[in-house]
Amino acid sequence: LVSRENHRERSVVRVGGVPIGPGTMTLIAGPCAVETPEQTLAAAQMAQAAGATLMRGGAFKPRTSPYAFQGLGEAGLRILADVRAETGMPVVTEVVDAADVELVASYADMLQIGTRNAQNFALLQAAGEAGKPVMLKRGMNGTIEEWLMAAEYVAQRGNLDIVLCERGIRTFEKATRNTLDISAVPVAQRLGHLPVIVDPSHSGGSRDLVLPLTRAAIAVGADGVIIDVHPHPETALCDGPQALVDGDLRELARVVRDLPPLV
Ligand code: PEP
Repeated sequence: LVSRENHRERSVVRVGGVPIGPGTMTLIAGPCAVETPEQTLAAAQMAQAAGATLMRGGAFKPRTSPYAFQGLGEAGLRILADVRAETGMPVVTEVVDAADVELVASYADMLQIGTRNAQNFALLQAAGEAGKPVMLKRGMNGTIEEWLMAAEYVAQRGNLDIVLCERGIRTFEKATRNTLDISAVPVAQRLGHLPVIVDPSHSGGSRDLVLPLTRAAIAVGADGVIIDVHPHPETALCDGPQALVDGDLRELARVVRDLPPLV
């Protein structure tokens, strides 16, 4: 269903009316985690002022340590809905458990499946039935074929509104959080018809890498980027070192605007 063999034209996926697909270079930005109404609104306003058209923000956070901030759950979803009402920006947010899909879908404009759940088949199937577009991150240990097969699980349930997101893979390299597999973008676009975006924040894991990795994403023809931003990264409850602040984000948005996307 997601293969290019049966679907020669590359697809455009619309999220609350915002297109992601060939020629779009959609900018998605927002906080890694929803912490407070003020922090979320400030991050969304920064994102919007810079030119982002979709807002990200995690209410359910899949954390390595059970002692780390796990997200606000439904209270976080309500904050996202309030910020959407204030800014008009459609919301992308992660769902980590099949049992929560209906709840998250009742607030979100797009469901995000994270790298740790990239082969959680029950979750993928539930997301495929939720009636909302799905952003499917690549498993950190997953091959491109496994990623496309994960998308197939969503598609099989009748939902072809799927966007693939390359977010870096595990390699021996420790200087970056993950190794951005930039070649996965054109390969996934050649094999499948789905839009492919890049997450330079979670791949590099460091603020100074977000702009260069975004340039790389644009150069290989990614259909968008998803970026962590925070009004005060030093106080962030999740992934502060990779969050951009206002000025960085405006510079990044300028690059996104000025580098013409490959179609
Ligand atoms: C995220 O985008 O908030 C996230 C946790 O990403 P990943 O699943 O790529 O680690």
